[in-house]
Amino acid sequence: MRKELVIKTVIALVLTALVTGVLMYIDNRPAPTPVGNGNYTPGTYIGEGQGFGGTVTVEITTDATTITDVKVTGDSETPDIGGAHLEELAGQIKAAQSADIDGVTSATMTSNGVKEAAAAAIALAEGKSVPTSGPTLAEEFKAGTYSAEARGFGGIVTAAVTVAEDKSIESVDVEGPDETPNLGAVAVERLPAKIVAAQSTQIDGVTGATITSNAIFQAVDTALMAAGLDPAALVPQKADSGEKTAETLDCDIVIVGAGGAGLTAACQAAELGAKVIILEKMPLVGGNSLKATGGMNAAATAYQAELGITDSGVQEFIEDTMNGGHQINDIDLVTTMAEESAEAVDWLTSIGAPLPEVAATGGTQHKYLHEPEDGSAVGPYLVEKLSKQAEKLGIQIILETTVTEIIMDNGAAAGVKAASDMADYTVNAKVVILATGGFGSNYDIMTSYNPSLAGAVTTNHAGATGDGITMAEAVGADTVDMEQIQLHPTVYQETGLLVSESVRSKGGILVNSSGKRFCNDMSTRDAVSAAELEQDGQYAYIIFDQRLVDGLKSTQKYISNGLTVSADTYAGLAEAMGLTGDAVSNFEETMATWNAAVAAGEDKEFGRNNGMDEDLSVAPFYAIKIAPGIHHTMGGIKIDTETRVIDTEGQPIPKLFAAGETVGGVHGGNRIGGNAVCDFVVFGRIAGKNAVESIAAAN
Ligand code: ADP
Repeated sequence: MRKELVIKTVIALVLTALVTGVLMYIDNRPAPTPVGNGNYTPGTYIGEGQGFGGTVTVEITTDATTITDVKVTGDSETPDIGGAHLEELAGQIKAAQSADIDGVTSATMTSNGVKEAAAAAIALAEGKSVPTSGPTLAEEFKAGTYSAEARGFGGIVTAAVTVAEDKSIESVDVEGPDETPNLGAVAVERLPAKIVAAQSTQIDGVTGATITSNAIFQAVDTALMAAGLDPAALVPQKADSGEKTAETLDCDIVIVGAGGAGLTAACQAAELGAKVIILEKMPLVGGNSLKATGGMNAAATAYQAELGITDSGVQEFIEDTMNGGHQINDIDLVTTMAEESAEAVDWLTSIGAPLPEVAATGGTQHKYLHEPEDGSAVGPYLVEKLSKQAEKLGIQIILETTVTEIIMDNGAAAGVKAASDMADYTVNAKVVILATGGFGSNYDIMTSYNPSLAGAVTTNHAGATGDGITMAEAVGADTVDMEQIQLHPTVYQETGLLVSESVRSKGGILVNSSGKRFCNDMSTRDAVSAAELEQDGQYAYIIFDQRLVDGLKSTQKYISNGLTVSADTYAGLAEAMGLTGDAVSNFEETMATWNAAVAAGEDKEFGRNNGMDEDLSVAPFYAIKIAPGIHHTMGGIKIDTETRVIDTEGQPIPKLFAAGETVGGVHGGNRIGGNAVCDFVVFGRIAGKNAVESIAAAN
C-alpha cells in the first residue's frame, strides 16, 4: 500500500540552502589575550555552507573566549567575484567575533554561504549541534508519492515524486506557477521527463534557467530522501540511444534561430503565406532577446505623437545612432532601421504587442525608447507575444536542434543540415534566413579580436556562439566590424545579470566608492563603461528609489533576488553599500545635489540631459554594485538593406538572408540602448518579407 508523505522544506534562498557542519578537532593552543566573549572549547573547527559555485569552508581557531584565526576557502567561487572576497570575509568574521557579518555587497551568495559556514563552525566550538534546515534521508525505503518544495526564481517550486517498489522513479510532477514564461517555465515543463528518463537528478538543467532548474532538482532530491533514496547514489542512466533517425523536411523558408529576429521573420513570412520552419539549438526560444530589459527605439511613431513628443524623429534617430556608433555604422542600414521603425511598432501593435510608453535611452538626446505599458521588460514581453503569434500562424519550431551547415545548390542557399540528440535533419527550403544572434558567449572568437576580454563577465546566453557567422563565412559571406564588442556598464558581476538601462533612463544615477557621481550616467555604454573602469576598484553603484521601483518591474526582481542593498536614509544606504568615512557624507551631498539638479532641469556637474523627469527622494533607497560586462557583438555577417547576405566579392548570395545580432554594420562601434530590439524587429520583418518575395519572383 502506498503511503503519502508530504515534506515541506521551504528554503529561504535556493543557493544558500543546506548547511552541514564537520567537526575537526585539530590542536590545543595557549590562549592569547582574550578579546572575545564566546564560550568555546579551544581548538580548530570547520563548517561548510553553500556559496555561489559550490561549497565554501570556514575554519576557525578559538581559545576559551576568542576566535583567534579564521580561514575561508571556496574553490568553486567565481575567482574575480566571490573568490576575491574570501579573505575579506574571513577578516569580517574575526573582527565581529561572530558569523553575523555584513558580507560583501557584490558577492551576496558567497557571503551567505560563508555566514552559514561560520555559524556552523562557531556552533561546533560552542559544543552545540549544527542547525540544519535541510532534508534528511529516511532510514527505510518506502515506495510511494512524496512531495517537496524549494525556492525557484519567481516563487516556490513543488515536486511530487512517485517511487515504485523496485526503487525506480516512476513519475515526477513539478509545479512552478511563478516561474518566468519561456525561461524557468521551460525547466518546469521539461525537467520532470528528463529526470524520469535518467532515473536521477544528476543531469543538466535547462541552460538559461539555472535557478529554476536547481530548485526542481532540490525539491525532487528532498522527496527522494523522504522515500529513503539517496539522490547522490542515483547514477544517471543513458537514454536508450538507438540509432539516430535521419529526417528530411521540406518548407518554403527555414529560419536558423528562434530569438527576436528569427521569430519576427517567421511571423512576417507566415503572415504572407509561407510555410516556415525554425530550428533552435537551445531548449527554449528567445536567445539574448529574452534578456532585453529596456525597450525598443523607434522614431516618428503614433505613440510619440500621442505623448506630444515631436523632437525625436527619423533624422534625429539616425544621427544619434551614428554618433553612438562613432560614425562607423553602415549609414544605409541605419537609415532603413530608422525609417522602418514606426511601422515596425505598428506591426507589433497589430500582433498584440503594443509598446505605448516612451522614454529616453542612454546615448540619445531624444525620447525613442518604446516600452510595454505595464513596465515589463521588453524582451520577455516580445518573445512571449511573438511565440504566441508563431503558434497561431502554425509555424513549426524545432527545439534542441543545432544547425551545422547551409546547403548550397548552384551557388544559392537551398536548406540546412541540423542535428539533435535524436535525429539528423536535412531541411530543404527555397530560402534560408540566418537569425542566430551574436558571439558574446564565444570567448575564442571574442579574444581572437580582443584578448583583454578573456576574464570579462558576459551577459549573453549560452547559445550566443556566433554559429551563423561561421556557417555564412563557409559559403562565402563577408563580415564587418567583428572587433566591435560592447561592454555594458551596469552588470551585476556575480551572475552576469544586466541591470537594465531603464533604471537610469527612469532617473537612477551611478556613484563610485567615494560616494560621488563620476560621469554623465546617460552617456553611451562605451563611455560609461570606460568611466567606471577609471574608478577605484573599477566598479560603481547604481542608485534608485522606491518611486522608480514601483514603476519598473525589473527592479522588483533585483530586490527579490538579493542584488540590492537598501535603507530609509541616504546615510543608511551609504553604510549598507559599505561606504565609510567621508564617502558617507559625500553620498548624502551627491543625492542632495542630484535632486536639486533634477528640480532645476540642469546637471551642471556632468551635463546629463535626459532621464531627469523624477528625482530620487522617495524612501526606501536602493543600490546595486555593478561593473562593465560583455554585452553586444556589433560585428557580424555583411548584409544590404534588403537583408541579403553579401559575399566577399560584394555580391548577394542568392536565397540567403540574415537579420539580428548575427549581422554587422547596424550599430557601428557602439550600440545604443533600445536599438537591438529595433534592429531585430525591423530587419526580421524585412528578411521575412523579402524571403517571401524572392520565392514569388522565382516562380
Ligand atoms: P537576435 O536578437 O538576433 O534574434 P538572439 O540571441 O535573440 O538574437 O537569438 C538567436 C537565437 O539563435 C538563439 O536562440 C540561439 O540559441 C539560436 N542559435 C544560435 N546558433 C544556432 C544554431 N547553430 N542552430 C540553431 N539555433 C541557433
